[in-house]
Amino acid sequence: MGIWSLKYEGFNRNKERLREALCTLGNGYFATRGAAPESEASDTHYPGTYVAGCFNRLKSKVSGQIFENESMVNVPNWLPLTFRLKGGKWFDLAKIKLIDYRQELDLRKGVLTRFLRFKDKWGRRTRVIQRRFVHMENPHLAGLETKLKAENWSGCIDIKSGLDGRVTNSGVDRYRNLNNKHLESVQSSAEEEVIYLQVQTNQSHIRISEAARTRLFRSGELVEVKRHVADKSGFITQKFSVDLRHGEEVTIEKIVSLFTSKDTAISESGLEARNEVLRAESFERLLERHVLNWKHIWRSCRISLKGSARSQMILLLHVFHLLQTASPNSIDLDVGVPARGLHGEAYRGHYFWDELFVFPFFNIRFPDISRALLMYRYRRLSQARWEAKRAGFRGASYPWQSGSNGREETQKLHLNPRSGRWTPDYSHLQRHVNVAIAYSVWKYYQATGDLAFLSNFGAEIILEIVRYWVSKVKYNPTLDRFEITRVMGPDEYHDGYPDSKSPGLNNNSYTNLMVVWTLCRALDLLELLPEESRQVLKEKLNLKHEELEKWLDISRKMLIVFHDDGIISQFEGYERLKEFDWDKYLKKYGDIQRLDRILKAEGDSTNNYKLSKQADVLMLFYLLSAEELRQLFGRLSYHFEYDTIPKNIKYYLARTSHGSTLSRLVHSWILSRSHREKSWKLFKEALESDISDIQGGTTSEGIHLGAMAGTLDLIQRCYTGIETRDNILWLDPVLPKELRQLLLDICYRGHCLQIHISKNNLVIIAHKHGPPPIKIGYGKKVVEIGPGETVEFELL
Ligand code: BGC
Repeated sequence: MGIWSLKYEGFNRNKERLREALCTLGNGYFATRGAAPESEASDTHYPGTYVAGCFNRLKSKVSGQIFENESMVNVPNWLPLTFRLKGGKWFDLAKIKLIDYRQELDLRKGVLTRFLRFKDKWGRRTRVIQRRFVHMENPHLAGLETKLKAENWSGCIDIKSGLDGRVTNSGVDRYRNLNNKHLESVQSSAEEEVIYLQVQTNQSHIRISEAARTRLFRSGELVEVKRHVADKSGFITQKFSVDLRHGEEVTIEKIVSLFTSKDTAISESGLEARNEVLRAESFERLLERHVLNWKHIWRSCRISLKGSARSQMILLLHVFHLLQTASPNSIDLDVGVPARGLHGEAYRGHYFWDELFVFPFFNIRFPDISRALLMYRYRRLSQARWEAKRAGFRGASYPWQSGSNGREETQKLHLNPRSGRWTPDYSHLQRHVNVAIAYSVWKYYQATGDLAFLSNFGAEIILEIVRYWVSKVKYNPTLDRFEITRVMGPDEYHDGYPDSKSPGLNNNSYTNLMVVWTLCRALDLLELLPEESRQVLKEKLNLKHEELEKWLDISRKMLIVFHDDGIISQFEGYERLKEFDWDKYLKKYGDIQRLDRILKAEGDSTNNYKLSKQADVLMLFYLLSAEELRQLFGRLSYHFEYDTIPKNIKYYLARTSHGSTLSRLVHSWILSRSHREKSWKLFKEALESDISDIQGGTTSEGIHLGAMAGTLDLIQRCYTGIETRDNILWLDPVLPKELRQLLLDICYRGHCLQIHISKNNLVIIAHKHGPPPIKIGYGKKVVEIGPGETVEFELL
């Protein structure tokens, strides 16, 4: 199996929550953490199941004030399946003697297997093998199969299967003092093989219905059993007993269906859940279809590296989790990209700018998923207009954190676990989320040429975002420049000036320059839209010539602040901050990724220093090519030389703690051509972010989807140098010296292309069936490639 599996030997209670997150199974509609079926929430375990887009709001009292938070809801746990040997207690990992324990996640098939053998105090040895899936083809189904073998005993065994609606959102310690009970029971019932439970979220009134069919088999034959039902406070179980002979094995099959009142094509979620589970085929048959579906998905996701087996395995793991969070099943849903996947409760399942790192993967493999995710934003355009208006601006301003209806969901207070104090959270000032959304719309269009989307939805998003910025900029007559004040850039370690009473910073270079970029794209798109659509949009938005003149003016006169001979200041006044003593803190704390918490606990603040959590200025070099930067700076009449890039990289890299998992991959990207060794090192570290939980405890609360997708993008776009410009697909491959070969499939303007890169060669093979030929460029050569054709370039 090798690269296709994630394996754990032995049970480690300290690592169990991390493993649960990494062994989550999902299908883009719902996901369930890889928790042991017999476990309940405790310090060791956290069984969690999350349905994409299922949010609920709760009020809590913190520091004497009432706050409301919206969270992705932990819905009833469908896993419960446990057993007890006659005279013993219900199975509990903590109370038995384990002889063997291993767990394996099969990435190719989407199956999690647990194998264990244990001995009880009477010396009875039992073998347990459990397999489970969350169905990729039918997104409402999941299955858990348990094989129990009496290795050296004969006797009776009790089996209990349940649906647990008593669950709360208690997976993140920092949120423990907040209200976390989102569910109330609606109904439950049991009929023959099926138990059923329906709950409702107490604010958004979403009904969640689960039904479970549990069957027992001996030597492949169905065994009729007498079932005892217990139905108490939202936890319904079915218990039955079976006699086992020495060496005999029984199989328990639990098939579960999950529906919510938000689903399409349903009458009532409870009815559908019961029907679906009654109609469901056997575990084995469902598994076959599930594996086949994954096979088809993997066909579009080929990324194959020669030279580094571990990197290859982690990349597959990243593809796997990405596709479990947003998949073809998400296309009909109204959902965004949760920063921490459907894998845990950190950041309450909210959607951030992280989608910026996720879209490139989907754009060239599953553009329909990208489009669906962008439609999530379009549907919340009127809320974004309201948010802009409320803040005194025009146009549309999307929230930093978004959930159900697109309201700003960023928490007002943040708990510092180091000091135990709640402090204000100003991260909603990261208005740059609005350039990220415009950027994603534009890049989706570039990759797909989907003019219908751009005309009907995308253009309106970009134009309204531009309007917001135009109403937010201020003209400075002394400088004859436009400024943007009171914002935060991506670096969350700076939310204000030292000793300032009010939060926010002025002229964050990343924001200012990306606003210019967005203005330029808005002007471009008005040129590019078909006449009819342009007219409709102009009328709909009441867009007049004078307004466009102003956009043009701002796009030429935005202020960018520099210091120290060509260093782009992260924000105005950055140069006045103190230098940070990295060595001292490294010596004192060892791990200094989260300097914000360390310094706050010391009564100090990251605002006082030249240090950053993640790339900020350097994001510019990540998102824009050197040529685009040269044009933008030129347009603004600023001096820009090519050595501006290495100079700034050196300056800011030395001042970054990588407190966000997004940081290393951005740095790896921008160093990929100039410092290949350093870039590879950062790439490898970025790869380890989740699998090795390099932030020490954050992955157990949910994977870091932006970082996972970003590592894939590094392979697919950075090392290949893929760029779409002037209707040509350009490639400019540079492989790290550790990689001998790279193979990947991409989808570009309706063509499926296989790309093979080795040290000296670049070969592109177009799939037999495809639209008319497209142009591909390498160096100074541009050639056409049509369906079924192959082109080859010798690498310079
Ligand atoms: C990062 C943000 C990111 C957020 C959600 C934070 O730690 O600083 O850039 O959007 O996590 O992933």
